[in-house]
Amino acid sequence: MSKIKHPFIRSATLPAGYSPANSNTRMNVPRPFELPVPQMAAPTPEASSNMGLNSERQRGVMVARLREQGIVDDRVLGAMQAVPRHVFVDQGLASRAYEDAALPIGFGQTISQPWVVAYMLSMMSQGRRPARVLEVGAGCGYQAAILAQFVPEVYAIERVRGLYDQARENLARCHAPGRIRLSFGDGMVGLAHAVPFDGIVVAAAGVKIPEALLEQLAVGARLIAPEGTTRQKLILIERTSVSTWQRAELESVRFVPLRPGTQI
Ligand code: SAH
Repeated sequence: MSKIKHPFIRSATLPAGYSPANSNTRMNVPRPFELPVPQMAAPTPEASSNMGLNSERQRGVMVARLREQGIVDDRVLGAMQAVPRHVFVDQGLASRAYEDAALPIGFGQTISQPWVVAYMLSMMSQGRRPARVLEVGAGCGYQAAILAQFVPEVYAIERVRGLYDQARENLARCHAPGRIRLSFGDGMVGLAHAVPFDGIVVAAAGVKIPEALLEQLAVGARLIAPEGTTRQKLILIERTSVSTWQRAELESVRFVPLRPGTQI
């Protein structure tokens, strides 16, 4: 069954080196560590029954690549090994699910590049055991599923109704030790009823990180978010006291825009 309703993204094949204008990826990714991804048969209904075994192997290759790209957090690597990323993309793109690339998920949005997910979650949870994390921009639900592998309570919010529905359906197919509470709404205002958060991950880039999110961080917790418009950087913010926050600029990235309000 096809999950993508966007007319331009229905096709199974994308041009080599496909890269949407906004794509939740790292800019200027050095590629010294590219490993060959085992080729899979096109995902016909018959082939998709083999997807389980194939995809486990492909995830192993993806995790090895993430290690070589400098990801060391075993919780994150274990989660990336466990969650079937192909479940979160259109069936026509399933064979590309384990490449280190963002892929379209409809509504002009993308599933984040695996390295971006692994890096953001590693930075957010470094030296910590976050018990309650908020994700702004759930998209198809992949990052929320990764989080729920090692975070007991995950709150994820999405502003596009069609993606919220898609995420709900995808997440229902993946079992995770943690509990995921998915909401439809504007994540720029955070989720006041569930504060404070031991970590916040924002998957879309605003000109400025919304103040409401900084206020919803527990003292000692970290938020990671892309910031900027044409030029974007990942920003890591740590709440160091009730009234102080420390900010660091990390990698150059390219994310879809953080938008106010909701889209039905
Ligand atoms: N987390 C996803 C990435 C999805 S792309 C993954 O696992 O791959 C980023 C998402 O942020 C898009 O679906 C977009 O609709 C959403 N978004 C943008 N602004 C938002 C806002 N204010 N509140 C909630 N979601 C938002």
